[in-house]
Amino acid sequence: MAEESFDVLFIGGGPGGYIGAIKAAQLGLKTGCVEKRDALGGVCLNIGCIPSKALLSSSEKFEEAAHHLGAHGVKVSGVSLDLKTMMARKDKVVTDLTKGIEFLFKKNKVTHLKGTGKLLGGGKVEITGADGAKQVVAAKNIVIATGSDSTPLPGLAIDEKKIVTSTGALALEKVPEHMVVIGGGVIGLELGSVWRRLGAKVTVIEFLDRIVPAMDGELGGMFQKILTKQGMEFRLGQKVTAAKSKGAKIDLTVEPAKGGAAETVSADVVLVSIGRRPYTEGLGLEKAGVALDEKGRVKTDGHFATNVQGIYAIGDVIAGPMLAHKAEEEGFALAEILAGQKGHVNYETCPSIVYTAPEFAGVGKTEEELKAAGVQYKVGKFPFMANGRAKAAGETDGTVKILADAKSDRVLGAHILGPGAGTLIQEIVTAMEFQASAEDVARTFHGHPTHNEAVKEAAIAVTGKTLSM
Ligand code: FAD
Repeated sequence: MAEESFDVLFIGGGPGGYIGAIKAAQLGLKTGCVEKRDALGGVCLNIGCIPSKALLSSSEKFEEAAHHLGAHGVKVSGVSLDLKTMMARKDKVVTDLTKGIEFLFKKNKVTHLKGTGKLLGGGKVEITGADGAKQVVAAKNIVIATGSDSTPLPGLAIDEKKIVTSTGALALEKVPEHMVVIGGGVIGLELGSVWRRLGAKVTVIEFLDRIVPAMDGELGGMFQKILTKQGMEFRLGQKVTAAKSKGAKIDLTVEPAKGGAAETVSADVVLVSIGRRPYTEGLGLEKAGVALDEKGRVKTDGHFATNVQGIYAIGDVIAGPMLAHKAEEEGFALAEILAGQKGHVNYETCPSIVYTAPEFAGVGKTEEELKAAGVQYKVGKFPFMANGRAKAAGETDGTVKILADAKSDRVLGAHILGPGAGTLIQEIVTAMEFQASAEDVARTFHGHPTHNEAVKEAAIAVTGKTLSM
């Protein structure tokens, strides 16, 4: 029997693969998507963005009910945690959304091929099902969208019970007494926040002398102070070099990053969140002749083409920020390119968001980057303490900071620490996409009273005085 043949075949059904596949099918290409996981949606829907946000929302409600509603005159007593229900709710959110992708595949006529894909060369892909059954399909264009997995830390064997990656940390059966988070990046701080709110003592051990190192340094410092005030403990400039099981506990050997005497830190759960690495295991890249870069990522030409004709790559498996919206934009743009249109991704306006409370978001350049590049810039800042809506809601921690070119006033970056920062940043993403000046943002209507008025005030502050301070 002749093998099934596609115009485009995506390997990996995460945000890069499923968005790319849906768009390609909508543009009239015969499209397939191979996924080895039971459910579509990739890391993001199954063990990443969505379950973490479900637990962040639930744990925030728990903390609010337990500690903060009293200030609003809302008296609650007997607040207690039903972790099983919280986890079951998270699982249902995930299932509903992954089923939604299945529905969208059917609606848009994307063929969902269940199994592990392997490149055979010559436009052929072998798919091995969970039962070991193999089939070979052909495709004019093959897209590697296999994503990433957690970077391991030598000396720490992951069991997803006591020494966990984010996957285990999303499914703990009880609240740890002491959770040590190794790595002060986005994932560690989000999941650390979840378990701290639910009652764990949380200690973050970070190799560098600051947390969230890719984000704005000044706001990053404020962020750390706020998280410390909330009860998170930070040990910066330190590294974990070994772990030893001691009864129910794990004893970690912790040393100063620059060298010095080691000490022991005991925990009952250790979350290893030191980063993610591209995932290309068993894909047959070598046989197909697909080149990798120095970091093990699939090398592309900037328009998603690899060195092998007809093979492309998108998402976490290629260079750039490992973010779901980055993978999605790339999937969308590549589908357009494969359909003969002009797909394009503007990486300058890709936002980063930490979904803690308060949230921390950034887009464009940080002050550190502008200084290093010798760019003359102006800064406008506005604290949420002076924002009416934030005051009314009792969420006044944080600041908006806008960076604009000293001569042209064009917005070069924005950094927001505060309530709903992940949503607020979108205003600046749009402004930057249209190459707006700070004055454009300042002269734009902002509804009152909204948190967005803090963005307007920061934009006013770039050139003049703020109105509300
Ligand atoms: P993935 O989502 O990794 O999907 C790749 C898929 O390919 C997987 O399902 C895998 O099973 C499949 N696959 C791999 N090899 C094969 C093969 N040979 N054959 C068939 N299938 C294969 N990003 C955000 O933007 N916002 C967030 O809030 C956020 N939160 C996160 C929280 C956590 C805890 C984690 C771990 C990540 C988070 N991310 C977040 C990152 C985000 O999940 C990734 O950037 C995104 O999923 C990358 O999409 P992708 O399509 O490139 O790959």
